[in-house]
Amino acid sequence: GPNAEGGVHCDEVFLGVQGKFILDRLRLDGRVAYVTGAGQGIGRAFAHALGEAGAKVVVVDLDGKKAERVAQELTLKGIQSMALTADVSQPQSVQGMVDAIVAKWGTIHIGCNNAGINMNSASEDTTLDEWDQTFGVNLRGTFICCQAAGRVMLKQGYGKIINTASMASLIVPHPQKQLAYNTSKAGVVKLTQTLGTEWIDRGVRVNCISPGIVDTPLIHSEELGPLVQRWLSDIPAGRLAQVTDLQAAVVYLASDASDYMTGHNLVIEGGQSLW
Ligand code: NAD
Repeated sequence: GPNAEGGVHCDEVFLGVQGKFILDRLRLDGRVAYVTGAGQGIGRAFAHALGEAGAKVVVVDLDGKKAERVAQELTLKGIQSMALTADVSQPQSVQGMVDAIVAKWGTIHIGCNNAGINMNSASEDTTLDEWDQTFGVNLRGTFICCQAAGRVMLKQGYGKIINTASMASLIVPHPQKQLAYNTSKAGVVKLTQTLGTEWIDRGVRVNCISPGIVDTPLIHSEELGPLVQRWLSDIPAGRLAQVTDLQAAVVYLASDASDYMTGHNLVIEGGQSLW
């Protein structure tokens, strides 16, 4: 099972099991994972990836029907799964999610705090309501989930938290007008750094993934849709990210192979933030 102490002596690697050792360390068999915002897009892809690697997966979304549909997709693949409806911005809703997971499968090993929203408005026109809603889901919601799941993980001395930040935490994507989004995602990175260092000596690792522009429903909105062609010229890789470009990263961060990594931001953006 999960090893809170972590670290595998290199003799065990080189003198012990030959060949497939690293792939074994990436396996998630017996682990219990949840993914928020998993009813579509990146979260759905994370749920599939964790399940394929062997975890039992709780599919969480504000939209219960979407969560249900994704849980059914997982079941068709032979992955043990359950759907839950929760609003990550509401502490009682998140506590209900944690309690339901613990009631069903006893604990939580892996928490993917992925739900997020984006609103576009010029900074001078951004209302406090837009600001609060964006921060409510992206930053407050990530904190609420980290805290509620973190308490379960700290008690058992083991846990892997993976937050979804964004390339927008590092650069200011142009020409989108998304002050609240960019700022909330920078907050997710600092939250991750702080929790990742505070909890590491009790076996809980916290990291985040920062995708570039990913081909999901979020970017095909009325405001963002027309910008897609323009973005392509900003991406050294010459294409948008597909959700499949992110899947191995979440498995890595959820697995024992990443035990010595905490508080960090794994950036997957086709080189865009370096351009
Ligand atoms: P999406 O809009 O396609 O899916 C988000 C899902 O989250 C939806 O199913 C929605 O119902 C759910 N959700 C929204 N608010 C919620 C809440 N309060 N509680 C629970 N669930 C809620 O988005 P996506 O593109 O898959 O993005 C997922 C994450 O990745 C977000 O945090 C987003 O900011 C981040 N991200 C996306 C991109 C991109 O280009 N798509 C890039 C970088 C980061």
